[in-house]
Amino acid sequence: MSFCIITTSKEETQKVASSLATLLHPGQVILLEGDLGAGKTTFVGGVGKALGIEETIASPTFNILKCYFEARPPMYHIDAYRLEGQNIDLGLEEFIEGDGVCLIEWPRYIALLFPKDYLKISFYHVEGDKRKLVFEGQGKEYLSLVEKLEEKING
Ligand code: ADP
Ligand code: MG
Repeated sequence: MSFCIITTSKEETQKVASSLATLLHPGQVILLEGDLGAGKTTFVGGVGKALGIEETIASPTFNILKCYFEARPPMYHIDAYRLEGQNIDLGLEEFIEGDGVCLIEWPRYIALLFPKDYLKISFYHVEGDKRKLVFEGQGKEYLSLVEKLEEKING
């Protein structure tokens, strides 16, 4: 099953993100798909804020991985954009299905590291500030996560 929502502002996207954050558990993995500017990093910012991160969450494009150990649970933000076409072992596995939640932008570039189950969120530009977010669960745990999120948002 999948759940789809349209947001009309950055703030609204972050509100959806904070709803999801309250449902997350350590070890969970979220793949964020979509073009540049679609809202992936904005969404990660909303999750991070809800998990207690005070600093502004920017795209870690130049770092590949950013760890927020102070978050509860710890949050790991990967942006694989710069890994396109490369096949280098950075040891990212440690953070995927580790002791925290892991959010991955441009996951296609590290497809070999995907766990069996995950939540995938696809971001689409609609027009102006409108974005469509599609949540799809892979595996039982994540199907139930998507169901809970829908309940939480739609009541
Ligand atoms: P990505 O990580 O997908 O490249 P970003 O989150 O960095 O995208 O950038 C999204 C940009 O779009 C930000 O400048 C944000 O303010 C703007 N924006 C406008 N409307 C929305 C919306 N509904 N949801 C998310 N971001 C939005
Ligand atoms: Mg980004």
